[in-house]
Amino acid sequence: MNRRNFLKQSNKLAIGAIVTGLNAKAIITSPELMVPSDSIITSIKEVHKDVFLPSLYRSPLASVRKKLKLVQRHVGYGNFNILSFDDMLFIGRNYSKIGKFSKLELEFIESIFYYDPSVHGFYGDRITLSITEKIYKKALYKVPHSGHYVYRGKTLDAYNHMKKDIGDSIILTSGVRSVVKQLKLFVDKLYSVKANLSLASRSIAPPAFTYHSIGDFDIGKKGFGYANFTSRFALTDEFFRMKKLTYIDMRYTVNNKDGVRYEPWHIKTV
Ligand SMILES: [Zn+2]
Repeated sequence: MNRRNFLKQSNKLAIGAIVTGLNAKAIITSPELMVPSDSIITSIKEVHKDVFLPSLYRSPLASVRKKLKLVQRHVGYGNFNILSFDDMLFIGRNYSKIGKFSKLELEFIESIFYYDPSVHGFYGDRITLSITEKIYKKALYKVPHSGHYVYRGKTLDAYNHMKKDIGDSIILTSGVRSVVKQLKLFVDKLYSVKANLSLASRSIAPPAFTYHSIGDFDIGKKGFGYANFTSRFALTDEFFRMKKLTYIDMRYTVNNKDGVRYEPWHIKTV
């Protein structure tokens, strides 16, 4: 069987596995929610039970995380932002320090790409239909000193316009992201929250669900570091100036319909 047929077939199995896993109560619910059900507070909490990754995928979660880190180190931060799935597989296969992605690792990756995250409270639109989708460098502009890319045309124009209107204290903190880049962000987050899918998807969209793949970008304040990805960004002068620009829209407002946290730094471009 060639790889594409294998992928097609394993997609079905993988999605089945994850959905069945979720439906069949194979999921582990948050232990702190396991409290006696004799108070109103308890019943409110029970409505919001978090959904966890099925136990079958715990070990590939850890091993895929390690491999993605090695692949990123191998190609460099900038190139990794736009690396395709096929190139990721190629690199794994050809560099013994990384190693070929195993059948179970691929099944896990495909599940996380093709499943329906509304089962755990993420209601964003599916943006990327195929896991093998490629991003062409020709369509992109690499923003100097950022390690990130934006699409030429409308997105680059908006970014340049913002720079002009707000000033050089704004920086691009994340631009175009391939399936592999979004996979890495999601896997890292999922690992850090102990496989809690509900919690992970509040701050990072699952790999097929990010608007970064088609044009959205994140901006921040120079020297503000990690705080650029917290609600503290909304208190900066840069944000106030940005809010006044009529051509700029925020994707994830407070209580957005997608179930994503408030992200004042995320610029909607499409
Ligand atoms: Zn963003």
